[in-house]
Amino acid sequence: MPAPTVMDKLVSLAKRRGFVFQSSEIYGGLGSVWDFGPLGVALKRNIKERWWWSMVQARDDIEGLDAAILMHPKVWEASGHVAGFTDPLVDCRTCKARFRADKLGEVPCPQKPSKHPGEHSTCDLTEPRLFNLMFKTFMGPVEEQAAVVYLRPETAQGIYVNYLNVLNSSRQKVPFGIAQIGKAFRNEITPGNFIFRTREFEQMEMQFFVKPGSDDEWFERWRGLRMAWHHELGLNPARLRWHQHGPQELAHYARAAYDIEYEFPFGWNEIEGIHNRTDFDLKRHQEASGKKLEYFEQASGERFLPFIVETSAGADRVALTALVDAYREEEVEGETRVVLRFHPAVAPIKAAVLPLVNKDRMPEMATALYNDLRKHLVCFYDDSGAIGRRYRRMDEVGTPYCVTVDGQSAEDGQATIRHRDTMSQDRIALGSVLEYLRGRIGGIGQGG
Ligand code: ATP
Repeated sequence: MPAPTVMDKLVSLAKRRGFVFQSSEIYGGLGSVWDFGPLGVALKRNIKERWWWSMVQARDDIEGLDAAILMHPKVWEASGHVAGFTDPLVDCRTCKARFRADKLGEVPCPQKPSKHPGEHSTCDLTEPRLFNLMFKTFMGPVEEQAAVVYLRPETAQGIYVNYLNVLNSSRQKVPFGIAQIGKAFRNEITPGNFIFRTREFEQMEMQFFVKPGSDDEWFERWRGLRMAWHHELGLNPARLRWHQHGPQELAHYARAAYDIEYEFPFGWNEIEGIHNRTDFDLKRHQEASGKKLEYFEQASGERFLPFIVETSAGADRVALTALVDAYREEEVEGETRVVLRFHPAVAPIKAAVLPLVNKDRMPEMATALYNDLRKHLVCFYDDSGAIGRRYRRMDEVGTPYCVTVDGQSAEDGQATIRHRDTMSQDRIALGSVLEYLRGRIGGIGQGG
């Protein structure tokens, strides 16, 4: 059997420690749909909160929105998704599997996994056909064509159709933005790589409305801000790069598009897109709805349809990136230590409180400390097993600090704080532990 890859190990750690489970696992699972377990939901929430904080709370020019997943079907006609949100699909007449025609080189042939579809002697691929990625359902009791609605394949359209509502209710002026985090659904043909490409996922999208002519400048500004955000999340800058969409890739309405890519164990792949969408979206919705969506700029007396600079990231994909980036195997005293070196802001648990042994007032003191700390930080109390094993368990889920109450604590009123990455230890007064941790973990919006 081949040795497990980093991704194999990560998938198994994610399941074992409660980050990510396969959806409906007891029924054999549902293709490319995943559930976030106790630690996974905490990790993803920390990422989303950090994004929301930097986009909405820390800025005066962006408002938040939470639009419904179901929208009027005409939205998807106007946006171009009904006609054009398609992938080219090929079927293999021999093994009956389906593949994306443009990704054949990235997936194994089901009959001969060392080859790609079409390369094995018995492969018999059809011509590519276009396949719409939107999930359809029916609204109301009758399953007929007139009742078709779609599960949104992106959150952005909810922002475009609400742009005037937000503008009029918030007293913003162009330039301004609307940010939203929410579920999106795509019936991906060849999903895979764990939670990298799934059929149900969450997007963190921000649409920034600007005066035509200032779009290039805002585009560059948002590029800089978004890359900086990923760096501040603690991701290794050497594993992040820009990919500029060339003329073949660029959507027909976009003036410019760049992806932020991360170097996953399975290659460089997009984690966020930054696009200059021009006035395409508002123009299309204005035409299709018959409602004027122009902005009147008081200062200049001009009326115009704003251009839109979009930043669009996947919360699940960034969570996967944080996991991959943090994963390390280290040799410590002849043993392998598995550690997730999460930035403290995204770590699901910020600190563990551990009584060295369950006697001599240690549990009482540790419990009191835990009850105190948990009012301010996500903490975990663990009193079972040897202390070294407890440290390892916390390393494996990326807890940055372990606070140990030992035999001396009753005498000197101090505890030992062990650092996950260096494994070094500091002796700190019990009354100062919170301040010590907060100084290192951060405050509001920093995941603290
Ligand atoms: P790809 O080329 O990978 O299919 P895309 O260019 O269609 O992605 P966008 O429509 O720009 O992606 O979506 C913006 C972001 O949403 C992506 O950068 C990614 O983080 C996330 N995303 C898109 N599709 C999926 C998916 N199927 N599963 C998880 N995240 C996704």
